[in-house]
Amino acid sequence: MHWSYEGAAGPAKWGDLDAASKVCSLGSQQSPIDLGVALKSQLPPLVIAWNKTANTIINNGHTIQLDFGPGSTLAFGGDSYTLLQLHFHRPSEHLIDGKNFPMEAHFVHRNAAGGGLAVLGVLLAAGKPNETFSKIVSTMPSSPGPAIKADPAIDPNGLLPTQRNYYRYAGSLTTPPCSEIVEWLVLTDTMEVADTDIAQFTTLYPMNARPAQKDNRRYVLRSS
Ligand SMILES: [Zn+2]
Repeated sequence: MHWSYEGAAGPAKWGDLDAASKVCSLGSQQSPIDLGVALKSQLPPLVIAWNKTANTIINNGHTIQLDFGPGSTLAFGGDSYTLLQLHFHRPSEHLIDGKNFPMEAHFVHRNAAGGGLAVLGVLLAAGKPNETFSKIVSTMPSSPGPAIKADPAIDPNGLLPTQRNYYRYAGSLTTPPCSEIVEWLVLTDTMEVADTDIAQFTTLYPMNARPAQKDNRRYVLRSS
């Protein structure tokens, strides 16, 4: 199914493109949302144990994505998830008090038992260069095509801030089919990446963010 971020196959039309993606327009727990109004609460710590390398990198026509082999885990509150892939949006999809950020990284994990997803979001701001992100943009395929081997210097841990406070809410995939199967965990601390690296990503994907969706009275919890 063809979809895009603007025009006849843009976000407002995703729900009409295909029977499987009706939830994009009819769903009640869609993502992204504005995280600004959050309830401070006791949330379990995020225990992240990722490998230091990615398997492959791909330009899939919607974003740049890195895929990971088995063994990278995210655990919180008694649930364990495995890291599948990392990809990027420009600008950020989640907003804070109506404001977006230059980019957002999504680390997609699957629950070992249930099959649900936990997506860890990291908001990226312009600032000092980040080694991992620099290596990604300097090796990303410039046009859509098959996955290629990822540079071994691409360590996903390099995109994690030291502080792991986070927002948590129940939501969906932000691309068709918009399935409402995602536990969203968006870190409150941003990571800095070089302006020139953001510009490099922008030459491929100037706008690949779904607009904020209605929160429909969902609670957003915040760990601090
Ligand atoms: Zn995403």
